[in-house]
Formats: sequence, C-alpha cells, structure tokens
Amino acid sequence: MAEYEYETHDYDVVVVGAGGAGLRATLGMAEQGLRTACVTKVFPTRSHTVAAQGGIAASLSNMGPDHWQWHMYDTVKGSDWLGDTDAMEYLAREAPKAVYELEHYGVPFSRTEEGKIYQRPFGGHTTEFGEGPAVQRTCAAADRTGHAILHTLYGQSLKNNAEFYIEYFAIDLVMSEDGQCQGVVCWKLDDGTMHVFNAKMVVLATGGYGRAYFSATSAHTCTGDGGGMVARAGLGLQDMEFVQFHPTGIYGSGCLITEGARGEGGYLTNSEGERFMERYAPQYKDLAPRDYVSRSMTMEIREGRGVGAEGDHIHLNLSHLPADALAERLPGISESAKIFAGVDVTKEPIPVIPTVHYNMGGVPTNYWGEVINPTKKDANAIVPGLMAVGEAGCASVHGANRLGSNSLIDLVVFGRAAAIRAGQIVDADAPNPELNKASVDAAFARFDGLRHAKGTTGTAELRLEMQKTMQADAAVFRTSKTLKEGVDKMAAIADKQDDLKVTDRSLVWNSDLMETLELTNLMPNALATIAGAEARKESRGAHAHEDFATRDDEKWRVHTIAHLEGNKVKLSYREVGKTPLTTEKEGGISLKRIAPKERTF
Ligand SMILES: Cc1cc2nc3c(=O)[nH]c(=O)nc-3n(C[C@H](O)[C@H](O)[C@H](O)COP(=O)(O)OP(=O)(O)OC[C@H]3O[C@@H](n4cnc5c(N)ncnc54)[C@H](O)[C@@H]3O)c2cc1C
Repeated sequence: MAEYEYETHDYDVVVVGAGGAGLRATLGMAEQGLRTACVTKVFPTRSHTVAAQGGIAASLSNMGPDHWQWHMYDTVKGSDWLGDTDAMEYLAREAPKAVYELEHYGVPFSRTEEGKIYQRPFGGHTTEFGEGPAVQRTCAAADRTGHAILHTLYGQSLKNNAEFYIEYFAIDLVMSEDGQCQGVVCWKLDDGTMHVFNAKMVVLATGGYGRAYFSATSAHTCTGDGGGMVARAGLGLQDMEFVQFHPTGIYGSGCLITEGARGEGGYLTNSEGERFMERYAPQYKDLAPRDYVSRSMTMEIREGRGVGAEGDHIHLNLSHLPADALAERLPGISESAKIFAGVDVTKEPIPVIPTVHYNMGGVPTNYWGEVINPTKKDANAIVPGLMAVGEAGCASVHGANRLGSNSLIDLVVFGRAAAIRAGQIVDADAPNPELNKASVDAAFARFDGLRHAKGTTGTAELRLEMQKTMQADAAVFRTSKTLKEGVDKMAAIADKQDDLKVTDRSLVWNSDLMETLELTNLMPNALATIAGAEARKESRGAHAHEDFATRDDEKWRVHTIAHLEGNKVKLSYREVGKTPLTTEKEGGISLKRIAPKERTF
C-alpha cells in the first residue's frame, strides 16, 4: 500500500456534514465556545437541505389554535407507534423555540397579514388529537424553506467562528480499541491531501441514502456515508426497512413537488378524473400522511386507473388555485413543473408518481443525539465521542413513517440538542484522545485498496444494479417473494464490490474514486434496508407487506438493529421507548392518548 502522509487537526468537536442538522449543531457548539470544525464534501449551501421546499413544523398557533401535544400526538400516530416517546415529546415541545431561534438568526419566513410567521397545512398534521380539522402548523419561506434556513445557519456559524473544511470527504471514523470515537479520516478533494481530525466529539450529520434507489427526490450526494462509516466501525443501524416514498415526485425525473402544493389546496386525480383520496381517507383526503397517499396512488395505478399512455402515474391538480397565490406561495414548484414535465401549473395537471424521498432509519441515538450501541446488558448503551443528527440519525421521532415538515424541525431541534449536550459533557480544557494508529491505518488501507481497484465491474454499473434491485424489490408494496429475491440479489451485488474497477488513480478531483467510496457507503445501507424488510413480518408505516397486511404490536413494536459483518447483515431488536419525558401531572401527554390504536385518516 502507498504510504499516506496526513495532517492532524485537533478540535473539541468535529461535525461531519453541513446540511441543516450539521450547521445547527456546528452553530450551537461554536456559540458555547467549543472549538468546532465542520467538514463537508459539498459546499455547505449545496447540501440537500437546500432543496427542502414545503416547510418546518412547529405548533406556533399563528393561523389557528394549536398545541405541542397535538403535534406530538400526530407524530406518534404518523410513526405508526414505532417512534421513541421521549424523543417525540422533546421534538414537539422544543419545536416552537427552535423556530423562533431561526427567525431571530434571520430566516426570511413568509408572513401573515399581521406580520407573523406564515404556516400552511401539511399531511397528517391535525388538531384535537386527530379528532379536529387539519391544522396550519408548517412554517414556510414560500416553497424555498430549506434554502432560507441553510443560508442563514451558514452565515451564523461563520459569525461564531466555526471553522469550515469544505470539499473534504470523510472516509472512516477513528475508533479506539475500547470503542470510543476519536475522530475521522478525510480526503481533501481539490488537492488530494489527507487529513485526520482528532476530536472529543464527532457528530455525524451526513444526511440520507436516497440514492440507494433508482428514482429518488434526493441529491446525488445523498449516499449514506455516515451509515457506511458506522457500519464499518462495527456499530448498528436502526429501522432501515422504513423508506419513505413521497407521493408527488414528477413522473420521469423524480424531482419533488412539495406536499405544500396539496397543503395550498392541490389534489390528486386518476384517469377518471376522480379525487380518489376521498375514498381512501375520508377525513383528511389528500392531506393524509405520505405512506397512506403513496399506497392509495399505487392501488389506483394497479387497478387500471392510472393516467398517461401507459396508465402508470397520477395527476396533481393546481390549476383551480388563483395564479397569484401560486406565484406567491409555490413559485419554485411552478418552475420545476415547467422544466421537468413541460407543464404550466395554472392550466394543466402535473404528472406524478410515488418516489423515494426520506430514510426514517439511520444511526440510533437518544434524544441528545448520542449514538446508541445496544449491548446485552444495556439496550441504551452510548458510544463515547459519537453523535448523529438529522436524516443520518434515528432518534427515533419518525418511527415507521415521517410526517411532512417534521424533518426540518428534527434537524434544528436535535442539532441544537446535540450542542446543548456537548456543552455539558465535552471538557474544552481536557487533552484530546490519543489517536488509535491501527484505526487510522485501516481507513487508509481501505481507501488505497479502492484507489487501485483493478477488477472488471465499473462503479456506475454496479450502482445501477443495486438501485434497480432496491427499486423493484423494496418498493411501496412488498411481498415475501420479492423481499427474499431482493435479499439474494443484493448479496450477490454486494459481493461484486471485490471486483470493482477504478480507472483514475490520481488524488486530485478524482470523481471516479469518490463515487466508488460513496457506493461502498450506499451498499451497507441498502443491505440493511432489504434484510430488515424481509425479516419484518407485519405492515407498519412505510413498510407495507402484502403477505402480512396488518400491524402486529405484540411481536413487532420493536426497533430493528442491523450490524454488518462484511456483506452479511445480522439483525437484532431493541425496545421502543414508551415513556414520555413528563407525566400527565407535570403537564405532559396522557399515556392513554398515545396508546396504540388503528391508524385511519
Ligand atoms: C427535494 C426535497 C424536499 C424536501 N422538503 C422538505 C420539507 O419541506 N420539509 C421537511 O421537513 N423536510 C423536507 N425534506 C427532507 C429534508 O430536507 C432532509 O431530510 C434534510 O434536509 C436532511 O438534512 P441533513 O442535514 O440531515 O442532511 P443534508 O442536507 O443531506 O446534508 C448532508 C451533509 O453531509 C455532508 N456529507 C455527506 N457525506 C459526507 C462525507 N463522506 N464527507 C463529508 N461530508 C459529507 C454533505 O456535504 C452535506 O453537507 C425534503 C427532502 C428533499 C430531498
């Protein structure tokens, strides 16, 4: 192996990722005077968060009565009772504070007549514990909310002297013999130099792994690098079988049309022009949660009522809405519809299809963002020195299905929580842990092996095989047969990683090598997803198993934990957190309220 020289950087905290979660954590850490570095493979404001359109949920009550308990209840029900109750309470309670902080940092929210933050309805967000009408809870900056948040947080992080390492690719974690995280090994993409960041706390904020699938709304950079690093460090991934399909990806391109379009009054129709959601979800119709709407659309298509020449998609109608409302509230998606579907939304419906959008699963954490590695003795054992936040993490507030606009709020609430926690447990005066040389060497050895890979399988070719398999066999609806076939196919595909061919051996702007590293991160995420799905013999949230059509709380109200041994997935299970942070007496939600029941809309 080539010897790699590297520069060592010492910090109190290293955050990997500069999306909404990474930047909120970075800002919070820096505000507390911790020496903080933020490492990111893309320029911060190009992170996928920039594409978030619809908004961020918080019970501000700006547009009608709302309550954090109603938000919590909706999140519990949305999760199909797989979320952790303490984390869901923390999310709903802290959400208004976190949004007002964003406002004060300078996020240019849309406004009501009276100058308050504008809020729109979103799927699954209701009043009166699901008994009342839909609520306007989703705070928005037109349909460019993520863009507004990301730019503001980046500016604030710079103001607080956080240090950015931009276009640095994190390869692997540095772990001590006894399982403490001590830093991360990185490759600087533009000059080929190597860097080892040594820190008392590493925060993974690397986003989701949508690109394990063929058609996804997520950026091409969403390759689950954090999950890959965690799996290689011998730690577990949680609830990976729950993959959200967004009902309205543009047919053909996968580009997203925000749920805010339905929030503003848009609706879906089939080939008969019927507003079919009225049949599936009589109460909330087009604003039922995403798993529900995606399944309903798939049923319509299967039963021969799809639109288009092949009857394989659905129409989203906005043309009945006033043109000025579209221009003010939904300018971005009007443009996307024009560019990606050639449609003028003021005149014609948009062709849409359920498209992979979000990963509920990820690196398991508690509600402070501390990574959990369950042991036989302690199901909630913490990995010292390691946190995970945002889509890369699994706190778990989204359980089996995430509500729209609950991700952006998850990013800022838990990014902030991680910083608060680090403020308590990171001693800025203590020396940094001494790096485990064997762990650093192992990262370089893996890197070097891929750099000089001389097999016969191209990276793009193998990635496509993986994406098509995941798309076909771990889809909106799943059966024992497709899942079994998918597991076998994915095992064979993963084995082909030994036969990869990298043609460019240089270290400067080597996109061939970078994409290969990304593929080796997507693969463990994909393997854990399909193995977890095959094992879960029930239907819950986004996991719709046709041979086991109902939810089985007795046996399956548990988190899946997937460990990878090479390309083999070993599954175990961990209890769902069923205790709220506060009792009813202390002003918390009553246990009776959040007891599992049938999930209808
Ligand atoms: C099109 C679209 C619209 C959405 N709209 C909404 C919405 O309206 N409301 C809502 O609540 N949610 C929405 N979501 C979901 C939400 O936006 C995402 O879940 C969220 O933005 C993820 O943020 P993140 O900070 O976890 O990661 P990301 O924003 O994906 O950022 C990941 C960061 O990690 C860095 N990184 C990754 N790997 C490495 C590596 N190996 N080395 C160094 N750096 C690395 C990247 O450079 C990047 O900075 C939307 C998602 C999409 C795709």
